[in-house]
Amino acid sequence: MNYIVFDLEWNQSPGGRYRENPKIPFEILEIGALKLNARRRIIGEFHETIKPLVYRTMNRHTQAVVHMDMEALRQSRTFSPVARSFLEWCGEDYIFVSWGPSDLFELQRNLDYYHIQYRFPKPLLYYDLQKLYSLENLDGKKRPALQEAVEAMGIAQTRRFHAAFDDAWYTAKIMQNMNFKSVQEYKSVDYYHLPESKEEEIYLDFKTYSKYVSMSYPDKETALKDKTVTAIGCNRCNLPVIPRIKWFAGSGGNMYYALVQCPRHGYVKGKIRIRKAQGDEIYIVKTIKPATEADVEDLQSRKAAVKERRHKKLEKEKERKKLKREKTAAATHTPVIGRRGIGRRKKNAQTGEEQAPQA
Ligand SMILES: [Zn+2]
Repeated sequence: MNYIVFDLEWNQSPGGRYRENPKIPFEILEIGALKLNARRRIIGEFHETIKPLVYRTMNRHTQAVVHMDMEALRQSRTFSPVARSFLEWCGEDYIFVSWGPSDLFELQRNLDYYHIQYRFPKPLLYYDLQKLYSLENLDGKKRPALQEAVEAMGIAQTRRFHAAFDDAWYTAKIMQNMNFKSVQEYKSVDYYHLPESKEEEIYLDFKTYSKYVSMSYPDKETALKDKTVTAIGCNRCNLPVIPRIKWFAGSGGNMYYALVQCPRHGYVKGKIRIRKAQGDEIYIVKTIKPATEADVEDLQSRKAAVKERRHKKLEKEKERKKLKREKTAAATHTPVIGRRGIGRRKKNAQTGEEQAPQA
């Protein structure tokens, strides 16, 4: 199998968000790629610039970064023929490699915009070299710029940055120079085409963790009601686990955490990320991995913090309501009536039923 190490340059609406075409917020202007064989030797090159059809002038932020001018681009072929040549050049048996996840996403969005047929596997797995580099050299979470990695690896900077072919070339050099085999297992899943049904949902098992990607849901409440979304077991065996901390929301509301205990492998933690799909829908990425003692403590304190925050919020709300009541009372010169008194006697206008006192 070959590796297609590629990089794209794109333009965005020169008139800002307000003038952008939501079907193609980033218009690809250049494709640069190198083909590497299974031994990571370069066996082919692809490079072509593209004549833009959507945004005819450069966004000033784009202009500041890329080395392209519109005059020259107008001499190029349009996206459709270039993309077809590129896909043909890729061949049959290959896996994409890119620095970060966005190039593969935007490539597909541009292909769809121009109704170009392509048959990528489903799920589409690829190598995010930025992530692999981080796993090997950093904490696995940081996402360094390409130039940073090039510098750290002592690769001679004989080319420019932010030019598609040169960036692809640097990415290939990093891939050749790093201990690729040690992280080769950690393929990424492309999120452009999400699973369309429960049957298509994605389950990946790695040495150190497992990953689940759901279909899309109208909202997170619906998603969290789905038992497959919240299921959590040991990532190394099928023994029944003991629940330790039930799923609870992190501070932003887009992350959920849980802890269970496997009788054989010890603590196992789960993390649910709520991610935005196309339109208003959302989908779930869940990871399950062994938890260390420090992880357990961290989860416990995080849960306590959430509880504390909720408690404070409630207290504040109570205080605010009390003040409001006192203010209204003062304004109308009526004596302050206890909450209980109001709640008990208030009748529902529609049903005539007595309402339960509020909290
Ligand atoms: Zn286990």
